[in-house]
Amino acid sequence: MPTPAEIERNFTDIHPPLSQHDGLVESARCYFCYDAPCVSACPTGIDIPGFIHQIRSGNGDGAARTILRANIMGGMCARVCPTEILCEEVCVRNKPGDSPVRIGLLQRHATDPVLARGEQFFRRAESTGKRAAVVGAGPAGLACAHQLALFGHAVTVFEKQKKPGGLNEFGIAAYKTVDDFARREVEYILAVGGIEVRAGVELGRDVTLEELRGEFDAVFLSPGLGGVNRAGVDGEGLDGVMDAVGFIAALRQAEDKSRIKVGKKIVVIGGGMTAIDIAVQTRKLGAEEVTLVYRRGAEDMRASRHEQDFARTNGVHFRYNARPARFIGEGAVRAVEFTAGGGETVTLAADMVFTAIGQALGGGIPEGLTTTDGRISVTADRATSIAGVWAGGDCVAGGDKLTVTAVEDGKVAARSIHRFLGGCNG
Ligand SMILES: Cc1cc2nc3c(=O)[nH]c(=O)nc-3n(C[C@H](O)[C@H](O)[C@H](O)COP(=O)(O)OP(=O)(O)OC[C@H]3O[C@@H](n4cnc5c(N)ncnc54)[C@H](O)[C@@H]3O)c2cc1C
Ligand code: SF4
Repeated sequence: MPTPAEIERNFTDIHPPLSQHDGLVESARCYFCYDAPCVSACPTGIDIPGFIHQIRSGNGDGAARTILRANIMGGMCARVCPTEILCEEVCVRNKPGDSPVRIGLLQRHATDPVLARGEQFFRRAESTGKRAAVVGAGPAGLACAHQLALFGHAVTVFEKQKKPGGLNEFGIAAYKTVDDFARREVEYILAVGGIEVRAGVELGRDVTLEELRGEFDAVFLSPGLGGVNRAGVDGEGLDGVMDAVGFIAALRQAEDKSRIKVGKKIVVIGGGMTAIDIAVQTRKLGAEEVTLVYRRGAEDMRASRHEQDFARTNGVHFRYNARPARFIGEGAVRAVEFTAGGGETVTLAADMVFTAIGQALGGGIPEGLTTTDGRISVTADRATSIAGVWAGGDCVAGGDKLTVTAVEDGKVAARSIHRFLGGCNG
């Protein structure tokens, strides 16, 4: 097993920031394309050549302003966005013999100093006297709250956890967001003023949607996905079989990661980011053998090729085209039986098994909301089927489930809410 110091080292920043010199050199690689494809590929539409040009001309703060105007979580997105399938994939320099401009790292290069100083670029408009409620303090809720506050509305955020941040705080892999960055970013967002966070208050338990609609002029729902899908096969109740999201949350909150118990032989079932993250993080905690098993082929996995390669370089083994048939053990799990593509049975020994097979809306959907495939249906403006109620982030139907898309949902909804409340500059 690794020593506590080795574990600490294993969880350091996977993409360390660029030095001042490297930032300038990297910014000079951009062609500043007209009709830049990278901008269209960014869900929040950041003016990428614009901010890279500002870095190049020594105006780092201007670059940060350009980024944060479009995406108030530009700092977190710089760390967690799968840029290899977004802006950097379509960069015109992404071709054989060349490499894409490292947009994510440049974005971090510009925003980190501003967040470290806590400098506020944006000022709130005069108070409108209107009040909005936001349910859930994850990326969607915080982005919406920030934008609404800038418009001059008074915002109250209801968050069931004791602290805000959503999956930025409880989900994203620890080595992507080191040094308590998630908390520091939330503090930066709230410092704009006009946003009250009521932590420990849960919609459906402590307050109802009807009550919020009565008390506030508009409501934005962004509770994410609190439930997890189950494998639905025998033995799921055995000790050592657990869902990945809960374990990751405990890992993110641990003061001392070396105190987290991890098995020797681990099987992870799933094919998305969560499956990759739990596989890599358990390896970093000291698991000897980690095998990720996915029901279809490598090309069908939701995790990008880049993420799969990253897991491989961290010693994770992959098995494709196999579905769990049962978990085997007496009291505690000791193996998992899979049905493989040709119908044959494959058994993998395991003393810990993680299921990472998707999440679902937790806590029930408030009455009257139309849904699609178990998620809240919304219009292009993120309006729901109930007047005065908007929704965004992981809880809504359609779209990629990423931090950056959640931020965009919050921003778009806030503009629509502002128009609904009589504002004209949304
Ligand atoms: C393990 C994991 C790793 C991920 N890694 C990445 C990554 O590297 N890059 C990336 O782009 N995306 C990643 N994602 C996806 C990304 O985290 C989500 O898409 C994003 O956080 C969604 O934001 P949200 O605001 O909709 O929901 P959340 O972040 O889930 O926030 C919802 C908030 O609402 C609160 N809440 C829930 N129900 C209620 C209620 N009834 N009342 C009050 N509050 C409530 C929750 O406590 C939470 O704080 C990952 C997801 C997981 C699970
Ligand atoms: S596509 Fe690449 S080269 Fe062109 S503007 Fe965007 S980052 Fe610069």
